[in-house]
Amino acid sequence: MSSEDCLFCQLINGDIKADVVYVDDDVFAFRDINPQAPVHILIIPKQHIATINDADDSHTSLLGRLVLTAQVIAKREGLAENGYRLVMNCNQDGGQAVFHIHLHLLGGRALSWPPG
Ligand code: AMP
Ligand code: ZN
Repeated sequence: MSSEDCLFCQLINGDIKADVVYVDDDVFAFRDINPQAPVHILIIPKQHIATINDADDSHTSLLGRLVLTAQVIAKREGLAENGYRLVMNCNQDGGQAVFHIHLHLLGGRALSWPPG
């Protein structure tokens, strides 16, 4: 399922160019165009899900795949030992700008907490 006017669906379809770092049947990952850390990668389901509010039990495995894909990419990028952060923003207060769920993988520097 995809949404014609969704930016991330267009990246998956190849209509818009992305710096792809991982792809399989269900998951797609690419470098963020405006990186907030030395490594900033977005891990997304190929299935269009607008926000985490729209996920349900049928997405349990897919959501798990996002996290485990982040783990694989973090190892590949040399982040595993020092650590990294996984973030999924939801709606206005969460700071979500693109309405196709995406897991941010951030690493390569010490990240402060709490977030702004
Ligand atoms: P969020 O604020 O959680 O919705 O995050 C959206 C992210 O998508 C931001 O970090 C943007 O920099 C990133 N982004 C927007 N357009 C693109 C693009 N064409 N390619 C890669 N990353 C993008
Ligand atoms: Zn989409």
